[in-house]
Amino acid sequence: MATQEETFKKIVAHCKEYGFVFPSSEIYDGLAAVYDYGQNGVELKNNIKRYWWDSMTLLHENIVGIDAAIFMHPTVWKASGHVDAFNDPLIDNRDSKKRYRADVLIEEQLAKIEEKINKEIEKAHKRFGDAFDEAQFRATNARVLEHQAHFDALHQRYSDAMNKMDLDELKQIILDEEIVCPISGTRNWTDVRQFNLMFSTEMGSTADGAMRVYLRPETAQGIFVNYLNVQKTGRMKLPFGIAQIGKAFRNEIVARQFIFRMREFEQMEMQFFIKPGTELDWFNHWKQFRLKWHKALGLGDDKYRFHDHEKLAHYANAATDIEFQMPFGFKEVEGIHSRTNFDLSQHAKYSGKKIEYFDPETNTSYTPYVIETSIGVDRMFLSILCGAYKEEQLEGGDTRVVLNLPPVLAPVKACVMPLVRKDGLPEKAREIMDMLKFDFHTTYDEKDSIGKRYRRQDAIGTPFCITVDHDTLEDNCVTIRFRDTMEQERVKIDDLHDIIRKATDMKVLFRKIMNSN
Ligand code: ATP
Repeated sequence: MATQEETFKKIVAHCKEYGFVFPSSEIYDGLAAVYDYGQNGVELKNNIKRYWWDSMTLLHENIVGIDAAIFMHPTVWKASGHVDAFNDPLIDNRDSKKRYRADVLIEEQLAKIEEKINKEIEKAHKRFGDAFDEAQFRATNARVLEHQAHFDALHQRYSDAMNKMDLDELKQIILDEEIVCPISGTRNWTDVRQFNLMFSTEMGSTADGAMRVYLRPETAQGIFVNYLNVQKTGRMKLPFGIAQIGKAFRNEIVARQFIFRMREFEQMEMQFFIKPGTELDWFNHWKQFRLKWHKALGLGDDKYRFHDHEKLAHYANAATDIEFQMPFGFKEVEGIHSRTNFDLSQHAKYSGKKIEYFDPETNTSYTPYVIETSIGVDRMFLSILCGAYKEEQLEGGDTRVVLNLPPVLAPVKACVMPLVRKDGLPEKAREIMDMLKFDFHTTYDEKDSIGKRYRRQDAIGTPFCITVDHDTLEDNCVTIRFRDTMEQERVKIDDLHDIIRKATDMKVLFRKIMNSN
């Protein structure tokens, strides 16, 4: 059995080998934490974006989209708090010269303690079998109690330090916990410093006239500054939402784990404007809706969990993450935040414009509250690949690598293959492709044995392979082979369209989301 780390390495290698993700500027040895999407990656990514976009704008008549520019007036970032508060605490190890996020080092320490507790429970479970009572064990086992007390104390100390952004205390925690640098193995740490994550550049042609502008670190502000435009021109009534998909940039201190943490990435954000006082109901509503959206993909319900925030961002009064079980643990894929009226009020203050909503029901004006759902396209992409990647042992000692991608997201829906490259079979295969290509991304493959061709399609997650053989010319039937079961079936050419449509139709997922509770 491969370890989780080995599996993750294999997924990264697979992404490159099969045209999903390449390091940026690879011929120049790459650029740290920046990646390009290849021919299959871009299709998968576009499908993810469409799934999100349509689930927002088609399923909700009160959600509309926008596409705001990446550059924004610099005061936007002053008002939003990003100039002053969008910082991470960083710390260097003097021996390895490696840089870390102090908060991440402490969180990893917390996870280690949790892991110890889980191991004790697992051991006891094995020992006691069905009679095992986990709650009782947690409440009474001396070792578990000791670890739990350690965890609670550290957690409290860490939350307090983060809430006050007490950098000396963060360093002291790292020293007290005897956290070592994973590279050098030493505790030779520098002081903790604040580091602003925004990239900046200059706009304008002359040095004196140039204006310092930022590359947006989140797409949300483009929505807030357009709130009035959309509300007025769209005659929107509260509650309503504005959705946007676009690039965001963060000068992340530690860029590891492939496309999990990038310096240039893409977000899908929806800001839902509501009446003050209704925020907790809407927060819960969106939490549930978003989880259903993830689960409808069928990667396994147990792979998702909520993680409520201890430390709330400067703008939030409730926040949770949807985490996905990656090979390197449960990790945040999406954030759902109750942002109060912080952003709109700040923009009103800094711009001097009145940004309010006139409520015809109560005849009053007020600044709406906001619930935000914010998901990274790239992290979603990674979670799907991690959930879909399988190495299977087949009968006869063979193995295959298959991506069990949700068919609706698969880059290629069907591959048409003539059994041999003669006797009119390629022409017949092309005819079938021409029939399917208006609706489905379809490819053609005539090289190597059918078995090898199947493997190539398995590796990119193509749900259907369609083989044209000599009988096809007589009976107008083909062999369709299903990716997940590897079963084959003889079907009429006329039925192909329906078979593929049924399996890849986004409507099926949307119905699942809307009908489940
Ligand atoms: P983290 O704690 O992992 O740095 P965050 O809490 O700062 O993330 P948010 O500001 O809530 O993230 O951003 C919303 C979403 O944007 C995240 O859930 C994630 O999917 C995505 N995201 C944020 N930063 C990055 C990044 N550097 N690379 C890729 N995706 C990112």
